[in-house]
Amino acid sequence: MKDMKDWNKIIIANWKMQLSLAEATEQAKEMKKLLAKSKAKTDTAVVVCPDFLSMTEVAKIFKGSDVILGAQDTYPGDIGAFTGEVSLKNLQSLGCEYVILGHSERRAMGETDEMINKKVKAVLERDMVPIVCVGETYEERKEEKTNFVVIHQIYEALKDIELKPGQKIILAYEPVWVIGSGQVIDANEADRMSQIVRQSYVDVMDGQNLEALSIIYGGSVTPDTVARFTSLQKIKGVLVGGASLEAKKFMEIVNKA
Ligand code: PEP
Repeated sequence: MKDMKDWNKIIIANWKMQLSLAEATEQAKEMKKLLAKSKAKTDTAVVVCPDFLSMTEVAKIFKGSDVILGAQDTYPGDIGAFTGEVSLKNLQSLGCEYVILGHSERRAMGETDEMINKKVKAVLERDMVPIVCVGETYEERKEEKTNFVVIHQIYEALKDIELKPGQKIILAYEPVWVIGSGQVIDANEADRMSQIVRQSYVDVMDGQNLEALSIIYGGSVTPDTVARFTSLQKIKGVLVGGASLEAKKFMEIVNKA
């Protein structure tokens, strides 16, 4: 795996449960082709997180290409009696390197801070990269709880984490009320939140391992808005849902980041 400090930008596609197997393989082929032609490929990490069903086929397509395979979730245990779950061991065997954890859509389904923390530890144990999503709901923002919520989520997710040399963590700030809404927050607010994310990480890690951290932004990012976030000093990239479903549009984001 390329050391994360070598990446100038990190652009991550979250395909959620949006594509059929046929659509996922078609988009994966197109993405591989477009990335091979792209000027961004050498210093931009392009990570695609398909659903588990599509993972095997998509992994075959990405093998040997510059597109990196990621997962949308995992289970913090190896092979065993865990009905309905997918192990990191199997994900890793397909070449998966990154894992999204604590996405707001999973938190809304009941994913707890404790479970997210276990998953972060399990992902790191396999030397994979956790992409930990944090962010406030619209109600929390209205009640001026944004900072508290984000700080709390980071503390809980990273509790008792010890990083080995070279390991990496991505914190994705995603305001929940912006995801899938077509709205985006302004650059000042993204900048302010990235500082809060960074400071929370510094506090929970006791001032250690700052080099392991990358902060990204997520929430309705499009080719027209990506540079607003990636031009900020503390934001290394974006997590993209809706606009990642079409290879051409996603690659426009990659090229404009
Ligand atoms: C997401 O779900 O992580 C996300 C950023 O989605 P969208 O880009 O569709 O807002």
